[in-house]
Amino acid sequence: MPPSPANASPTDPPADPAADPAADPAAGTSPGTARTPRTLRADYVIIGGGTAGSVIASRLAEDPELSVLVIEGGPSDLGREEVLTLRRWLGLLGGELDYEYTTTEQPHGNSHILHSRAKVLGGCSSHNTLISFRPLPSDWDEWEAAGAAGWNAAAMDPYFGRLRNNIVRVAKKDQNEIAADWIEAVKSALGVPEVVGFNDRPFEEGVGFFDLSYHPENNHRSSASVAYLHPHLKAGDRPNLRLLLETWAHRLDIAEGRAKGVRVRTAEGEEVCVEAGREVIVCAGAVDTPRLLLHSGIGPRADLKALGIDCVLDLPGVGENLLDHPESVIVWETHGPIPDNSAMDSDAGLFVKRDPEHRGPDLMFHFYQIPFTDNPERLGYERPEHGVSMTPNIPKSRSRGRLYLTSADPEVKPALDFRYFEPAADGSDYDGQTLVDGIKLARKVAAAEPFAKWLKREVFPGPEVTEDAQISELARKAAHTVYHPAGTCRMGAADDRLAVVDPQLKIRGLSGIRIADASVFPTMPAVNPMLGVLMVGEKCADLLRGTPAPAPQAPAQQSTAPHHSRTEEGGDA
Ligand SMILES: Cc1cc2nc3c(=O)[nH]c(=O)nc-3n(C[C@H](O)[C@H](O)[C@H](O)COP(=O)(O)OP(=O)(O)OC[C@H]3O[C@@H](n4cnc5c(N)ncnc54)[C@H](O)[C@@H]3O)c2cc1C
Repeated sequence: MPPSPANASPTDPPADPAADPAADPAAGTSPGTARTPRTLRADYVIIGGGTAGSVIASRLAEDPELSVLVIEGGPSDLGREEVLTLRRWLGLLGGELDYEYTTTEQPHGNSHILHSRAKVLGGCSSHNTLISFRPLPSDWDEWEAAGAAGWNAAAMDPYFGRLRNNIVRVAKKDQNEIAADWIEAVKSALGVPEVVGFNDRPFEEGVGFFDLSYHPENNHRSSASVAYLHPHLKAGDRPNLRLLLETWAHRLDIAEGRAKGVRVRTAEGEEVCVEAGREVIVCAGAVDTPRLLLHSGIGPRADLKALGIDCVLDLPGVGENLLDHPESVIVWETHGPIPDNSAMDSDAGLFVKRDPEHRGPDLMFHFYQIPFTDNPERLGYERPEHGVSMTPNIPKSRSRGRLYLTSADPEVKPALDFRYFEPAADGSDYDGQTLVDGIKLARKVAAAEPFAKWLKREVFPGPEVTEDAQISELARKAAHTVYHPAGTCRMGAADDRLAVVDPQLKIRGLSGIRIADASVFPTMPAVNPMLGVLMVGEKCADLLRGTPAPAPQAPAQQSTAPHHSRTEEGGDA
């Protein structure tokens, strides 16, 4: 791994540079030199150099008068081809760069889901498939209706224009023939319009190649770290920005209702106090942000007491409202091999609106150019040598899960109970029925040309599975996640007992500390959430700097009309 220039520019140089883990974060501190607890200081301390954290660090460091320190649990992604190459994303799951969370027993769903969370600079944007959707107007308006004043579509949509990522449509060279034929079959079988440029205009229905945050010429990611941090790490032009890599934040220092800083442990086990002159910003993601709060005594008093953790602030919403985009799968064997070109093997998707009263899409599909059989194989199905998959996905799942601690030991991972496919608040089986509807629609697409000519047979759930109850049971047992957990420290109004942060992203009841990451989502966007997280980061930077937000604009109407404003190559006109 090449050295990272930003690591060599401490804001508060220790007397003995050899004892400074930040001077060489990859190596940490050599055992003989540790002085505990050593103290580091910066104006702003950001916990988590992930998707939102990279944005905020980069934006704050634009002001040379400010010192910014980022604490990141993973190593740098600079020069790591296995991370930077988008198409290698599957190889990152379950490896050394994955925190590997699991779920509790899911009686109505699949208890064997691995919830990958990236342990590397850039966070999950260094791990994921980089499918890039600006949230729909209905998604932001839902946030404001849930108590997030000022987060409506007119106010938030302009932040899309601020994003530094290279957001382009899947390049022509990466557009696989079978995916193109699938798009044609969807159009004729379901009457859904093709969308060329999903981010050009809001939509409710549509099929097409995705926009991705990537560089088509070398298939490199345009992750949060690549877009927001690498230019400065390479140029060395942000001496006020310091990264502490492979360093774990395990407890917030709170005194008299104010966050003073955070206790961290370096790779070598040295305890360090990191003090914030101005504010602490927690950006550790939807799992690790509530985990850190709970271990710091911020959360439901009774739960903390039961584990022997002193309650600093009774905040009952910490860990509640665990959201996700659950999905299942239908798999086909193809007559033979599929052409190999692709951006990341799931380059196209479909949005459907079943309920005319619903605002926005209510059923989504990813199209995979591979047989996605991890869960069917566990149920006894065979993986075909050549195949493809469609994955019915629930944009607005009704399940509301919960994250909680099972031990006061910060090393013990928290429990994640997603409550997948439990009856909805109105008693309905909304989520289960969405999968059934999805499998049936997928079969219609499979029967339509020019896609049908590729397919030899349906492998999972299998053509003999036709009754709704049978489809539902198998689809739920084979359900997986698309790794979108969110909502566990949700934003809300002052009278909302379960809100954890206010619309300024400040933790309610404390000063000097905000949260900015997927955990603050009050509700789940219908689309993939990463751009929403980046936009939360941009808005958080404005709130911290007191800079004006971009001028609000009247949001465009959500439309089902076809769009043709982008060219095929990389999406640029
Ligand atoms: C495999 C996968 C595929 C996905 N595909 C897509 C997609 O195609 N499109 C899309 O829109 N979304 C996708 N997502 C979801 C999206 O990537 C996430 O919602 C988003 O990146 C979350 O950003 P975040 O800032 O909340 O957290 P993260 O990006 O996870 O950042 C958290 C950071 O904090 C660090 N950290 C955590 N705890 C600590 C601690 N205690 N001390 C120090 N550091 C800590 C972590 O190492 C990490 O770098 C995918 C996610 C995954 C995992």
